[in-house]
Amino acid sequence: SLAGKTAVITGSNSGIGLGLAKALAGAGADVVLNSYTDNDEDHALADQIATEFGVTARYIKADLSKGDEARALIETAGACDILVNNAGIQQVAPIEEFPVAKWDAIIAIMLSSAFHTTAMAVPMMRKAGWGRILNISSAHGLRASPYKSAYVAAKHGVVGLTKVVALETAEDPITANAICPGYVLTPLVEAQIPDTMKQYDMDRETAIREVILARQPSKEFATLEQLGGLAVFLCSDHAAQITGTTQSMDGGWTAR
Ligand code: NAD
Repeated sequence: SLAGKTAVITGSNSGIGLGLAKALAGAGADVVLNSYTDNDEDHALADQIATEFGVTARYIKADLSKGDEARALIETAGACDILVNNAGIQQVAPIEEFPVAKWDAIIAIMLSSAFHTTAMAVPMMRKAGWGRILNISSAHGLRASPYKSAYVAAKHGVVGLTKVVALETAEDPITANAICPGYVLTPLVEAQIPDTMKQYDMDRETAIREVILARQPSKEFATLEQLGGLAVFLCSDHAAQITGTTQSMDGGWTAR
């Protein structure tokens, strides 16, 4: 059980982050949710998790495109036994047209924020005598696709950062691993389905199978429950010697 542990999950008012927060709360951890907004709905998500799982749950606003806010998130949380670096955005464009501001934002939110939160969390984990760092990379942390220069660069960067942190904490009771999902049906992906159907003149099922999951041999999305199970396992004692690795959950994508 993760009772008594505090998990900070970045970018967790939606999608995978929220799913991981629920899975960790389900395993008994207190959770800190985060995004860059500060709406009633954000705080309500924390209240729902607290009620459903009987844990302490808070929502802390931090815009992770800013390094000082990323650091302040961990400081405000006050405890961070489990750090999940999950916040992310996407932009698709050929490199010569790639908006410079989007490049900067993607690198800041998906790579630099993990540097900042980890730098703050590792001393707290050493002091607590236990820690788990889960960096949500992607199949795109191991393979490339055209027109996703910033995303692929950031996700590969996250894998490199994970390995360095694993080495620096190797003799501490701390592990750092990257989770590399293929496609997961989150609001982010759901939003791409209507456009894909229109663009290829396909029904929903065909668009998912032939276009969205073209590179995912299983032709199935990974689920939030499956990712949650992997995260909880990586936080368990059985996973104490798993560090510096990439854990793929991609239906065979990176077997190619
Ligand atoms: P999502 O859009 O549902 O979630 C992204 C989260 O990041 C949201 O909570 C959003 O508010 C937050 N966020 C964005 N900008 C932020 C900022 N400046 N500061 C703080 N938080 C910010 O998308 P998702 O699919 O759940 O993606 C979560 C992570 O999983 C991302 O890192 C994504 O790259 C990765 N991933 C997703 C898939 C997939 O198929 N959905 C596959 C592989 C990897």
